[in-house]
Amino acid sequence: MSIFNVSSVIKNIKTSASIAIRAKTVELNKQGENVISFATGEPDFDTPENIKKAAKHAIEIGFTKYTAVDGIVDLRKAICHKLKIDNNLVYSANEIIVSNGAKQALYNTLRTICNPGDHVIVPTPCWVTYPEQIKLTGAIPIFTYGNESNNFKLTVNELKKKITKKTRGMIINSPSNPAGAVYSKRDLEELSEFALEKNMWIISDEIYEKLVYHNKKHISIASISPEIKNLVITINGLSKSYAMTGWRVGYAAGAKEIIKSMKKLQGHTTANINSITQKAAIEALTGPQDFIDLMLTEYYSRKNKMLEYFNSLERVSCNNPDGAFYVFPNVSKLYGAKYEKGILVNDFDIANYLLEYAHIAVVPGSSYYCPGYIRLSYATSMENIEKGLERMSIALQNLVF
Ligand code: PLP
Repeated sequence: MSIFNVSSVIKNIKTSASIAIRAKTVELNKQGENVISFATGEPDFDTPENIKKAAKHAIEIGFTKYTAVDGIVDLRKAICHKLKIDNNLVYSANEIIVSNGAKQALYNTLRTICNPGDHVIVPTPCWVTYPEQIKLTGAIPIFTYGNESNNFKLTVNELKKKITKKTRGMIINSPSNPAGAVYSKRDLEELSEFALEKNMWIISDEIYEKLVYHNKKHISIASISPEIKNLVITINGLSKSYAMTGWRVGYAAGAKEIIKSMKKLQGHTTANINSITQKAAIEALTGPQDFIDLMLTEYYSRKNKMLEYFNSLERVSCNNPDGAFYVFPNVSKLYGAKYEKGILVNDFDIANYLLEYAHIAVVPGSSYYCPGYIRLSYATSMENIEKGLERMSIALQNLVF
């Protein structure tokens, strides 16, 4: 066997589709094509000045050494305060662990609760990382299939079809990526009841919590009842709310025993997150919050622009997302369309066609286990949105049905 053969676990992991699209976009741009990207899930706003200033101050005072593995206590206290004020959740600092983004918080969680062969329920369409992280732990992602009519939210009916003795937990993501679904109190009560009955974990990814429209309210499932709180690990972070993707700060909140085990794991992998980021994160959570409203207002008008466009097309329809910064139009009626190089037979073909002929980058729904759709992020300027949609119109007009 070649020394270069990687482990079977790693062989089994997929590369993120949006990373592949980004690479193709960079390649086309190098050739001078000026591709507009709707593929990345990253705020186009700059991190607010007060947060940057706190980081600069941390450097100036020499706050540049190792910290506690689970984060400095002032940051964990700031997170507890945020969870109380925003989410009606009471946690103490030893029930919080700060990690390198929600991504690491999620991985720590799965690694801590799953044994090889366990089942973890993943409602689709889902963020691409969930199934891969589950596989990394040796557990098995079990997909449920959402319905467009309720914006793909997980329901107890779907859960009942997939539950087995091996089911260890479920992931829920509200507001969701890619569909932008926001779970109501009733939705969460139903899922909680089921989880309590089956004694299973709920991993609640709330990273898009601050991006909610239409007077909907984000509710943390852990706040539904004290009983369910014991079975929930809440995952959140600052990437999307404070335009801090590159800073890498996320956290998990949950039962003390679980957090302690996650700390053990993190102690041997990354240890603490960047010390400077931790000071900046305290400022983000405790400083002025008006940045979020400004960002939200802008996202809201961009969302409406995209929605109006997609719903004006003859063969495309699009749900109105209540949260996050994506639209997820149904493009399945474009299947069978002819163009000069062949026929569009699936959402990959449509994404490739748009990249090549409209010079816009979108992600095929199949990447989120939901064929027939494409995902567009509106975390890009209104100017780009207008230009991109104009190009898309021309490309669609050139298709023959
Ligand atoms: N959860 C979801 C649903 C996401 O879409 C993303 C990023 O795209 C993350 C978590 C990761 O966030 P972080 O930057 O905090 O790792």
